[in-house]
Amino acid sequence: MVAEHPPLLRGKLRRNESMARHVSWRVGGPARTYYEPADIDDLVVFLQQLSPDEPLLWLGLGSNMLVRDGGIAGTVIATGGALMDLERIDALTVRAGAGVACNKVARFCAGLDLVGGEFLAGIPGTMGGALAMNAGAFGGETWPLVRRVETIDRHGVRRWHEPGDFQVAYREVRGPAGEWFVAVELHLQSGDGAASLARVKELLERRNQTQPIGLPSCGSVFRNPPGDHAARLIEACGLKGACHGGACVSTKHANFIINGGDASAADIEELIVRVAETVERVHGIHLYPEVRIVGDAAPGGVQP
Ligand SMILES: Cc1cc2nc3c(=O)[nH]c(=O)nc-3n(C[C@H](O)[C@H](O)[C@H](O)COP(=O)(O)OP(=O)(O)OC[C@H]3O[C@@H](n4cnc5c(N)ncnc54)[C@H](O)[C@@H]3O)c2cc1C
Repeated sequence: MVAEHPPLLRGKLRRNESMARHVSWRVGGPARTYYEPADIDDLVVFLQQLSPDEPLLWLGLGSNMLVRDGGIAGTVIATGGALMDLERIDALTVRAGAGVACNKVARFCAGLDLVGGEFLAGIPGTMGGALAMNAGAFGGETWPLVRRVETIDRHGVRRWHEPGDFQVAYREVRGPAGEWFVAVELHLQSGDGAASLARVKELLERRNQTQPIGLPSCGSVFRNPPGDHAARLIEACGLKGACHGGACVSTKHANFIINGGDASAADIEELIVRVAETVERVHGIHLYPEVRIVGDAAPGGVQP
């Protein structure tokens, strides 16, 4: 916990902040403490004031996170409205703060006639989240673009790392323990910006045709197993449209679970478990969630 009136802080500090307001599934209990830093220097001050045993959860735009109904017994650090610097630093390199939306980065690069980041336009999260997840779409992935990343630890110490300091796989990134991303330098190629923007438009149209964009979801719930698609396996089990409480498997894309409006996090998690169990029983394939499930079950609630 931080002191009740910490000196020098310029960010937004809230107690018992509903996480449903900050994640794209629109569910989840409160965070005991929620902090949106004003900028990187403010984040350093905030971290230096934290007690060493305070649990920390880093949040981007919450587009890949299921927060349980009992909320977060710790501090959430929200970068989505902060760490927003975005600039070209040399001919082929763009530096982005961890809080910058991926979509903005894709368009910024195209505007500079720098190509290779078009796929980022379809990822509704921050660059920090994209680094943590190795987010990807339409054949592109985040880490092949990375020249180096800047991290911060819980004492507010900042470091630069090369990609070789991280083990990067499909939707999985392991790196130095206890460090989080605050910025990235992306290496692009020189190209035709107008063509790049046209590609962005085409990818977003394809996405709109195949995914339930605009409804509360977290995108694909499960990782694709090697050589197959989770959506195909789920659909083949007849689970499209299957519901649990207010949560339903999308009828448009079987790997999406939609909050119909009154779902709880427990409804969503129980549906995730049911889908995974059914796919395992029918196909003999174990699906692993791509979405990060965090926090505590509601008092008296059951954590599947
Ligand atoms: C409609 C829809 C479509 C989607 N399509 C795709 C897609 O095509 N491809 C794809 O890969 N994903 C997709 N996603 C999932 C999601 O957008 C990505 O995983 C995205 O990278 C998450 O970014 P975020 O900022 O929202 O992260 P969050 O959901 O806020 O966090 C995700 C994880 O990253 C960690 N994290 C966040 N910021 C940092 C940081 N600065 N440092 C360290 N860790 C951090 C969090 O602690 C958490 O573990 C989609 C989601 C939706 C809702």
